[in-house]
Amino acid sequence: MCQCINVKMGSYDNQITLITPEGKKAGIDRCIVDEIKYLWSLKIKTIESCCGHNIQEGYIAVSDKDIELMKKLGYKLYYEKGEIILENIFESKTHHNKEGKLIYGWYKKDD
Ligand SMILES: [Zn+2]
Repeated sequence: MCQCINVKMGSYDNQITLITPEGKKAGIDRCIVDEIKYLWSLKIKTIESCCGHNIQEGYIAVSDKDIELMKKLGYKLYYEKGEIILENIFESKTHHNKEGKLIYGWYKKDD
């Protein structure tokens, strides 16, 4: 779950444009902006991300060099229909409840 209401998959309705650490423009879904900024602060290069728009789990794709660090941070590989899609796509840690409140964020440890 995230904070999107009636945002379709592949839509840019809930995005903001940020400048990446490499100086490029990137559209990032509002729901996971804090998490993406946190990963950038750790020098992780994100390639693509999506909050899932309340339709599916959010995901974050990173460059191959950052796969091990993502695993160390406790990120789990992203599954779709029970299958791992690619080795560099991880489930986003940002989750919200039905009321749009953050219930589990990237800054909290797995319990
Ligand atoms: Zn969202």
